[in-house]
Amino acid sequence: MYTVFDDFLQTLFPNYCLGCKSAVPKKTILCLHCLSELPATNSHFSNSNPLVKLLHQLTTISYATSLFYFEQQGLVQQLIHQLKYMNREQLGSLFGAQLGQKLVNSPFLSCDLVVPIPLHKRRHRQRGYNQVSQFGQQLAKQLQIDYVPQNLVRHKATKTLVRLNAHQRTAQIKDAFSVVDSSVFAGKHLLLVDDVVTTGTTLSGAANCLLQIKGVRVSVATIAFAKSPLP
Ligand SMILES: [Zn+2]
Repeated sequence: MYTVFDDFLQTLFPNYCLGCKSAVPKKTILCLHCLSELPATNSHFSNSNPLVKLLHQLTTISYATSLFYFEQQGLVQQLIHQLKYMNREQLGSLFGAQLGQKLVNSPFLSCDLVVPIPLHKRRHRQRGYNQVSQFGQQLAKQLQIDYVPQNLVRHKATKTLVRLNAHQRTAQIKDAFSVVDSSVFAGKHLLLVDDVVTTGTTLSGAANCLLQIKGVRVSVATIAFAKSPLP
């Protein structure tokens, strides 16, 4: 129930945009200006987009898309940081809903299940949540398919992969993932989701693990994609 106390709180703590800190209406997390500034890839229907090309060098995927481009010091990097380290899980929901709406009538509609890249349980405990969870759940809702978070697990805590060379990255990620019950995934087209793709090593490591299950196809959807490798 709305009370005068709410009004008082609202004056003390007005809602602000997570991008530019300007005041926004209640329950809004990004202002219209910031929303329009986000660098959308709009490459969801192209099966030769840069993300597909990157992942095809590493694994066998059916489709791949990303909502935004990721740039150093850019707005997307700032928002992903808040999503990952500052409990701003609402950003994941917003981006999942946005991408889901864009994927209507796309080949992604043939996916059966949404599967998030899992965190190692120690990292999960430290952070308290998986930052791709809300993104994946909203995406599943829009595509009207199930979200399956517990069946793909990560039993190896990997260090930041970006600073390693390709050979070291592949060695780090090898055997990092496993599946609890492969019958849940057998014969299914899985939509693997993650926050940011940089080298593609983590996603391809997970995809290679999933592709060992009979009849599995893997597609990929992420919030952001770094077109050029990060320094
Ligand atoms: Zn803003």
